[in-house]
Amino acid sequence: MELFAVPGLPEIREGDDLAAMVDERVDLRPDDVVCVASTVVSKAEGRVFDLDEFPPSPRANEIADRLAERSGEEKDSRFAQAVLEESTELIMETPFLLTATRFGHIGVNAGIDRSNVPGGDLLLLPKRPSESAARIREGLSADRVVVTDTCGRPFRHGQRGVAIGWAGLPASRDWRGERDRDGRELGVTVQNVIDELASAANLVAGEGAGGTPVVVVRDWAFGDHDGSDSHFREVEGDFVRQALREWDYEDS
Ligand code: GDP
Ligand code: MN
Ligand code: MN
Repeated sequence: MELFAVPGLPEIREGDDLAAMVDERVDLRPDDVVCVASTVVSKAEGRVFDLDEFPPSPRANEIADRLAERSGEEKDSRFAQAVLEESTELIMETPFLLTATRFGHIGVNAGIDRSNVPGGDLLLLPKRPSESAARIREGLSADRVVVTDTCGRPFRHGQRGVAIGWAGLPASRDWRGERDRDGRELGVTVQNVIDELASAANLVAGEGAGGTPVVVVRDWAFGDHDGSDSHFREVEGDFVRQALREWDYEDS
């Protein structure tokens, strides 16, 4: 397989047709996977906001005060309000905000970015990234689209690319029922390919001022496996999420 960034994309603004902009810069093939950083999807969808658009509720004030106390830094309660409005559940509120977004993704600060946001203070994640992916796919000469974000992860330092939306391919390759080299039947392996593609694409996209938010993955085949669209865990069965609800920063 081969990965390359789409060259020459300008600063993306609300209303821009990302699919057309990509299609006119690259000769796409039907089986290419086009990986698009959520940053530019959000910009195109007008998800740029000023902090003043989030007048803080008492709850947001309380959260910001507690975070400020813990960190010794000033915390903006309008930012806490934006995070609350984007979230269906506050999973951790100290020493940082870990929340579940409406579309199922769990992330720090509900994935709200403060970098690469000209013209505003905040960039919110796309409302429904898989619908964004499907819309972008409609306008492309390629059949597969992944919307990515850069996220931290538990247990490891550093951030990496993950998939938050997808269209035209399954989220996972299901290896269950297939055999390993010893002939043993695989019982649990469901390989999440969209995260793996997102990570690879993010490696090419970079994080700073590079200006390469769209990466094409060429000559990658899903192969002859069953597919599954399960990506975000449901609350039932997500034992780490359940444990975090009961965890208290004060006891750690
Ligand atoms: P995120 O991972 O989705 O939060 O996106 P990042 O902010 O990390 O940006 C990923 C890549 O896209 C970097 O190379 C940025 O320089 C680039 N980028 C961000 N916004 C724009 C834009 O409006 N236009 C272009 N051409 N590049 C952008
Ligand atoms: Mn981001
Ligand atoms: Mn990034």
